[in-house]
Amino acid sequence: MDFSAYKDIWVFIETDEGKAASVGLELLNPGVELAHQLGQKVVAVILGKDNAEAEKAAIAHGADQVISLEDPAYGYYTTEAYTYGMQKLVEKYRPSILMIGATIIGRDFGPRVSCRLKTGLTADCTSLAVDAETGIMGWTRPAFGGNLMATIMCENTRPQMGTVRPGVFKKLPADASRTAEIIKESIPVPDGVVRTTLVDSIREVAAEMVKLEDAEIIVSGGRGLGKAENFSYIRDLADALGGAVGASRAAVDAGWIPHVHQVGQTGKTVAPKLYIACGISGAIQHQAGMSGSDCIVAINKDPDAPIFSIADYGIVGDLFQVVPAMAAEIRKL
Ligand code: FAD
Repeated sequence: MDFSAYKDIWVFIETDEGKAASVGLELLNPGVELAHQLGQKVVAVILGKDNAEAEKAAIAHGADQVISLEDPAYGYYTTEAYTYGMQKLVEKYRPSILMIGATIIGRDFGPRVSCRLKTGLTADCTSLAVDAETGIMGWTRPAFGGNLMATIMCENTRPQMGTVRPGVFKKLPADASRTAEIIKESIPVPDGVVRTTLVDSIREVAAEMVKLEDAEIIVSGGRGLGKAENFSYIRDLADALGGAVGASRAAVDAGWIPHVHQVGQTGKTVAPKLYIACGISGAIQHQAGMSGSDCIVAINKDPDAPIFSIADYGIVGDLFQVVPAMAAEIRKL
C-alpha cells in the first residue's frame, strides 16, 4: 500500500483552560525521537478557544510545528466537537502517526477518531518504537492482566494511532528560545454535531480529582496503614510537602481510598520528582507505576521489603512514628 501522502508525527496537546496538560508535553519527547528516525516533523496539535499558552509550551518542549485549532466550540471538552475537529484535521494534513495521552479525554475521543478514519488505535501504551525503513510503529502495551507485553502494529491503514499512558515519558527540558511555525486553523463545528451542553461548572469536580500524573511530589500509602482512617497520616505528609496522595492496590482493594489514587500496573504511571512509599512492600506491579520517579523514599518496618531495592532513601521503621515526625520537621522549614 502506498502511504507516501502520510507524514509527520502528531502529538495531541490536551489543554485545561488553555494550559497544556503534562501528558501532551511528555509525548513530544518520543515524538522528537520518532521524527528524527523517520526524517519527519513532530507536530503539536491543539484544540481550544485560546491556545497561545499551550502553543508556547509545545514549542518549548520540542514541537517542530504547531497546528492550533481555535474556536469557541473547543473551549471545553465535548466528545463530539473534539472528534469532529481532529477528524477534519487528520483528513486535511494526513499525519503518519498520531499519539494521544491515555487520559479520560484521550481515551474518550481517540477511539472515536480512529473509528471515523477507519484506522487502528492501540490503547494505553507504555512504550513505542518505529521501524525507520517501513515507518511502521510498534505500540507496546500490557496485555492479559499485565502478564505479558503486546506490541501491536497498524500495517494497512493510516494514520497509526495510539493512546499513551501519562507519566511513561519525561518531558524534554523546556527551551523558551525555540521557535516553530504555528498554523492557525478554524474549523467551526456545524449545528447538530454537538449533542451535549455544559449545564453547570465542572470545576468543582475537577478540583477534587487527583492529578497524580502532574504531581511533582507523591506520598503513597499501602496495606501497612491498616485501615482507611490512617490515610490521614499520608494526607498530612502530602499536605506538608504540597504533594498528592497515592496508594497501592491493596489499599484501594480494601476500600480505604478510591481507585483514582492507585499507582501501578492497573493504576496510574507516575514519575514525580519525589515519591514516598509508606507501608508499601513494593510488588512488581506497584513498581511498574512508579519506578521512573526521580527520587524514591521508602518507609517500611520490614528491612527485606522489595521496595528498598529501588529506593534512593530507605527508612526501616514504623510509619506511624516516621510519617508524623517527617511532616512536623517539614513544617518547620
Ligand atoms: P503488602 O504487600 O501487604 O505490603 C504492606 C507493607 O507494609 C509490608 O511490606 C509491611 O512490611 C509494611 N508495613 C506494615 N505495617 C507497617 C508499619 N506500621 N510501618 C511501616 N511499614 C509497615 N499493586 C499496586 O500497588 N498497583 C497496581 O496497579 C497493581 N496492579 C496489579 C495487577 C495485577 C495483574 C496483579 C496480579 C497485582 C497487582 N497489584 C498492584 C498488586 C500487587 O501485586 C500487590 O499485591 C500490592 O501492590 C501490595 O500492596 P501493598 O504493598 O500495600 O501491601
